[in-house]
Amino acid sequence: MAVMGEEPKFAADRMLGRLARWLRLLGVDVLWQPNLGGHELLRLARSQGRVMLTRDSRLRTARDVLPMESNFLREQLRDVLLACPFDPRNRTVSRCSRCNAPLRPLARDVVFHQVPLYVYASHERFFWCDQCGRIYWEGTHQQRMRDEIERLMRLIGADSGADKTSTAG
Ligand SMILES: [Zn+2]
Repeated sequence: MAVMGEEPKFAADRMLGRLARWLRLLGVDVLWQPNLGGHELLRLARSQGRVMLTRDSRLRTARDVLPMESNFLREQLRDVLLACPFDPRNRTVSRCSRCNAPLRPLARDVVFHQVPLYVYASHERFFWCDQCGRIYWEGTHQQRMRDEIERLMRLIGADSGADKTSTAG
């Protein structure tokens, strides 16, 4: 039985770098080590309690593996959400898409000299990755992603809670 609030963790194979980055931007813990071969990655994934996402058809029936049948990001995301349901909506940026490290909040005045002025002026909340130093904010990319996620959630028929009463008639 799933523990309330427990998040799925993944390891993505070398073919799935884009999917890994997307899931990370949604706050999901995704290991991506393109230097590892399929079986090595699977061993590592199991040792860390991760589900392995793979395009490798030879691994598709292995335990702890979620095969990705499609080569398209949107369908891959849909399949991940269907197999390991979590609600990716209403999340803040929380994980570095490059390093998979959890992001830390960054004081707005510290950011002033490090991002373009228009970014500083139009955003309240900033975060940074203490592994690569990258600075994040909730920008247009995040909004596009959310729109995309909303479309996906509708596609898989997830009910969005807030809409429950308005869809009745
Ligand atoms: Zn980073």
